[in-house]
Amino acid sequence: AKSAGGNRYELADPEADARVITRHGLTTALPAALERGEFFIEYQPLVHLGDGGVRGAEALVRWLHPQHGVLGPDRFIPLAEHTGLIVPLGRWVLEQSVRQARAWRERYGDGDGGAADPLRINVNLSPCQLTHPGLVQDTVEILERTGVAPDALCLEVTESALIGADDGLLKPLRQLAEMGVDIALDDFGTGYSNLANLRRLPVSVLKLDRSFTQSMQRFPADPVDLKIVEGIVSLAHSLDLSVTVEGVETGAQADQLRVLGCDTAQGWYYARPGPPEHLHDLALADATG
Ligand code: C2E
Ligand code: CA
Ligand code: CA
Ligand code: CA
Repeated sequence: AKSAGGNRYELADPEADARVITRHGLTTALPAALERGEFFIEYQPLVHLGDGGVRGAEALVRWLHPQHGVLGPDRFIPLAEHTGLIVPLGRWVLEQSVRQARAWRERYGDGDGGAADPLRINVNLSPCQLTHPGLVQDTVEILERTGVAPDALCLEVTESALIGADDGLLKPLRQLAEMGVDIALDDFGTGYSNLANLRRLPVSVLKLDRSFTQSMQRFPADPVDLKIVEGIVSLAHSLDLSVTVEGVETGAQADQLRVLGCDTAQGWYYARPGPPEHLHDLALADATG
């Protein structure tokens, strides 16, 4: 209990206390959780809006906590960032995800002569990983160890992490982009970044934030939102960037976003994040018509 106004024995809000204990408890449990293998990854398909085909998946980490059950990343990623555990955790997520991409590739062929292009894998990077000096080398080593081509990997960085980014911060991303790794600007449209700045960033994909998709849900959709999305898409395409939309929950949203020129979509309408076998089934259904 925190002392307030000199009264050292004032009772604190028990709920607030429980939150503090949980937060503290979770933070101290993180390193052992990584060693014990309590983290796992769910994959959510990325679907081409033009032909409906599965192009790849985004890796989303979860924690199977022995007492609290499955915890979503919003519960523990901020704690892992705070303690620095995000670096080894992020490396683990990257390695697992790239291994999964390799498994998909073995199953569906490598693209030459196969029915479909190999499925690609999107992995989230936290700002702490971006400033960690080992990022490029770790990524190269993981790709080499698994035998996966750099162009099968897309690293997602939030728009806010790159606002005002200097050359020091952009250098590792440029190196990765030169190797053929795609860089996506995640949660785009929430960070007030200067659109002209896009040219300076080594990104090849814009991921439109879910808030835009949500505004397509209302009928009639806000005409200003429609204009904004249309403008972003045409700017992105003129800069050779592809546009992915997230949070697509209905067919009506998907139709609207297709008309507005978006390239790829992700959301519950297609599939919730799930185990890798789910993607096998979807991609298989896709390949066999
Ligand atoms: P994000 O990168 O923006 O990921 C999309 C989030 O939207 C995911 O939440 C996903 O489950 C959710 N989502 C997908 N489709 C829909 C939909 O149709 N409707 C709605 N309402 N939500 C949808 P999730 O899995 O809870 O992840 C939350 C955030 O945690 C992610 O947001 C990402 O920023 C972060 N995160 C997840 N995995 C990792 C990781 O391995 N490393 C790092 N650094 N961050 C991660
Ligand atoms: Ca993401
Ligand atoms: Ca996002
Ligand atoms: Ca988000």
